[in-house]
Amino acid sequence: MQFTEYPTQPLMYITNRPEIVFTHGKGSWIYDNEGKRYLDFIQGWAVNSLGHCNEGMIEALEKQARLLINPSPAFYNEPMAKLAELLTQHSVFDKVFFANSGAEANEGAIKLARKWGKKFKHGAYEIITFDHSFHGRTLATMSASGKAGWDTIYAPQVPGFPKADLNDIASVEKLITDKTVAVMLEPIQGEGGVIPATREFMQQLRDLTKRHNVLLIVDEVQSGCGRAGTLFAYELSNIEPDIMTLGKGIGGGVPLAALLSKAEIAVFEAGDQGGTYNGNPLMTAVGYSVISQLLAPGFLEGVRERGEYLKDQLLELSKERGFEGERGEGLLRALLLGKDIGPQIVEKTRLLQPEGVLLNAARPNLLRFMPALNVTREEIDQMMAMLRTVLDSL
Ligand SMILES: *Cc1c(COP(=O)(O)O)cnc(C)c1O
Repeated sequence: MQFTEYPTQPLMYITNRPEIVFTHGKGSWIYDNEGKRYLDFIQGWAVNSLGHCNEGMIEALEKQARLLINPSPAFYNEPMAKLAELLTQHSVFDKVFFANSGAEANEGAIKLARKWGKKFKHGAYEIITFDHSFHGRTLATMSASGKAGWDTIYAPQVPGFPKADLNDIASVEKLITDKTVAVMLEPIQGEGGVIPATREFMQQLRDLTKRHNVLLIVDEVQSGCGRAGTLFAYELSNIEPDIMTLGKGIGGGVPLAALLSKAEIAVFEAGDQGGTYNGNPLMTAVGYSVISQLLAPGFLEGVRERGEYLKDQLLELSKERGFEGERGEGLLRALLLGKDIGPQIVEKTRLLQPEGVLLNAARPNLLRFMPALNVTREEIDQMMAMLRTVLDSL
């Protein structure tokens, strides 16, 4: 079908979209309305951890759809309990609250920290966050984010989110007052341009927050669920945060997110937190399939191996073209271009014929790579070859 035959006109404008309509996908490939296929290194924005239309997820979805879709959040259901058990068994956390988006999970983390502050810290409510961070698009999570311009779009902001600089412990210490209840960060800033917090910084943060009786919240919406080569990115620095949020990869593409905490911090009382779809069995059954597949023997090892492989390929390309290297963890990486040619490359790789590549420029001077965690070496090679073709044409 031609693009013009689709009724896209009634869709509210929120961003510039190319004039194609995606119709189906499998693994690392996605197909448009004209049958052209694209090697997908965006994967729904680091969401499809197992690629497009993973068989295990389809099975879980079909099976659960015939059993029970939503008994209401006021009742238990089996998939929600099983997924919570799996997550607590494989993390340092004891309690789980399911949500439908990363922003909602982060709102929950903010509420939980403020509630804890009310109960145990004389009403302390400030949460120190970081410049260039991204925590979501609700009013509170936009206020928590350190994205340029976000302080004014929907002013006034939600108060209580002073900003520090990533990997600068003095900048955090300076902001701690008796009002401080938590420090919240992404172990790897994703939207900010794939900027990892150093292991040393994460450890310093843990020490500092412990000393001041302040909670440490990790937003692992993008870095969690295998993306960094470990089940969760906080493992890389050998620390135990108090609260963690998950989104994106946990659902493998379906709307699912989670708020996790240590038992002693789970201080919500009846009625404090909830949501109509939260913990519904349809999505949590899919999440259970996703996390089980990530935990299969050798899976995360494979992510680390192919992460290293992608890293080597990007470094080689960088050397060859005089770029500024690469950074990241696992299969969340960025190629530093040194000039603002990212958007141009993104467009040209998509328009390549007969097959395109989907890439993202999180910032104009870099390319971000977030392929399916089961991407193959051959697919990485294919992507690199197509990227070279485009670079040759610039
Ligand atoms: C994407 C993202 C969010 C927001 O998740 P949504 O599901 O889009 O609400 C929050 N934090 C981080 C680190 C993210 O990458």
